[in-house]
Amino acid sequence: MWSRLSRRRILGLLAGGATGAVLTGCSGDASPEVTPAAEQVAGGTLPPTTGPKPPASPSAPSAVVDGNQALRRLLDGNARFVAGLDEELDEGIARRVAVSKAQHPFATVLGCIDSRVPIELIFDQGLGDLVVVRSAGEALDHSVTGSVEFGVAELHTPLLVVLGHQRCGALDATIKALDSDQRTAEAGELRHIVDTLAPAVRQVAGKPGDRLTNAVHANVELVLAKLRQSPVIGPLEKSGKLKLVGAYYELDTGKVHVN
Ligand SMILES: [Zn+2]
Repeated sequence: MWSRLSRRRILGLLAGGATGAVLTGCSGDASPEVTPAAEQVAGGTLPPTTGPKPPASPSAPSAVVDGNQALRRLLDGNARFVAGLDEELDEGIARRVAVSKAQHPFATVLGCIDSRVPIELIFDQGLGDLVVVRSAGEALDHSVTGSVEFGVAELHTPLLVVLGHQRCGALDATIKALDSDQRTAEAGELRHIVDTLAPAVRQVAGKPGDRLTNAVHANVELVLAKLRQSPVIGPLEKSGKLKLVGAYYELDTGKVHVN
């Protein structure tokens, strides 16, 4: 049943008693101790969660207060996803009502548009949990960078993740375009994508290992470096209010590796 009921809904029911007064909200102090999901994964690959317990009710704001706790919460969610214990997105009526007037997302994630990398699903997060920005190959432009800035500065997420992924089609297309010198043939704004991703491909030229995988990792680092140049993001990181992390999603396993 774990996979059929979200943990947050279960917690709300438990904290609300047998009558399940989920919509009325409950004090976090009243919640029972809950074993972190990662501990329930057989042969779990992640250490137990430390820090605050998960929210005790659908109306409780995020218990995450810093970037390290936010990252742990994301990785716990990914461990559930990998193990098939995912909570099917916390998208129930109670949660929808709870976040309708205010949001307290705990992380901003910049990922690729790839249909196999839906950010909320692979981190097993629900309504109001994440600010998700997606572009092909995490390519930056004014709107993408501005959206990321909105997440960290206006919505105050303590964590920003740039997530590359295995067999990224955007970077593969960039490799092919550069190899064939067909960039001028790219129609519309696709050329902008190729031009934006090209430095990562050039950076890994001649290096050992799989060229595409190398380019994905190089691209994540280049995107992080550019985001750090933002007058909004850079100072937040320097002040300790924001943690920046690069990561890699493995299509074959569903696992997210933090760089
Ligand atoms: Zn991609």
